Amino acid sequence: MAKVLRSKVLGFCMGVKRAVDMAEEVLNENEGKEVFMLGPLIHNEQALQALYDKGLHLLSEEYIEERCNEKSIVIIRAHGTSPSILTRIEKTGARIVDTSCPRVKASQKRAASYSQDGFLVFIAGDLGHGEVLSISSYAGDKAIVFKDAEEAKTFFKTSELFQKNPRAFDKAILISQTTIRKEEYDAIIAVLQKKLPQIEVFNTICSATKERQLFLRELAHEVDGILVIGGRHSANTQRLLSLAQELSPHAALVEAVHEIPPEFFRLEKVGLTAGASTANKSIDEVEQKLLEANTI
Ligand code: SF4
Repeated sequence: MAKVLRSKVLGFCMGVKRAVDMAEEVLNENEGKEVFMLGPLIHNEQALQALYDKGLHLLSEEYIEERCNEKSIVIIRAHGTSPSILTRIEKTGARIVDTSCPRVKASQKRAASYSQDGFLVFIAGDLGHGEVLSISSYAGDKAIVFKDAEEAKTFFKTSELFQKNPRAFDKAILISQTTIRKEEYDAIIAVLQKKLPQIEVFNTICSATKERQLFLRELAHEVDGILVIGGRHSANTQRLLSLAQELSPHAALVEAVHEIPPEFFRLEKVGLTAGASTANKSIDEVEQKLLEANTI
């Protein structure tokens, strides 16, 4: 194996880097205090382990009252959380460090202000995802979530309110999960604009995912195989893997160096890309391991 090439854009996105930097700062400045993160800060076991090693504890919502007090610090992750959870933490006296990504915050604010003005807030995304849960919570009972165009079509076919009183939908906006694929969002937009021509549509897709995919396409032309470094539970890492599999006969996802498939040590040129929650350290380790094989 002769060469390792990195994608021009890979690894931590702005929001995840900001969240990890803030968490590290809090841990460094508050030695001896109980510092919690509400849900995993990022979808990357190695990066999480590094934070656990520095004293960070994972906190589930159901234990907020039991485990937090005025001496605790609770870190809110980049996906954000709901106003009711923030209130519950505040009531315990714990200090909140909110690392919500500014792009997610912008969607939360939009959902809150439009719903207060009587607008329905349609959200395109996965209801099980932390970011969508947090954005929809800011719109309260005005939020309606679709994961794809089919769900949107079914909603309009089956909604009694829409059949009886379509005027109730006169004021409506559409925003998306920041990591939704453009094609998926376009399909949902098409369904909603057909039913609600007056709907106000906002482009809230984050460029981080798109850029990583764009530069992976470029990299694929120059290499014989692609390693995608990142967590198996990370949606954007999985998307990179499926694209890598489309583009290259050799593609694999690795969370750590020991997972590099043996065939990659025999390739002439290996390309590296990494999900938005993959730390530089993990990328460096994989690159180093491949390069070491040259010297054996
Ligand atoms: S993918 Fe985009 S929206 Fe999500 S955390 Fe990263 S920068 Fe923020």
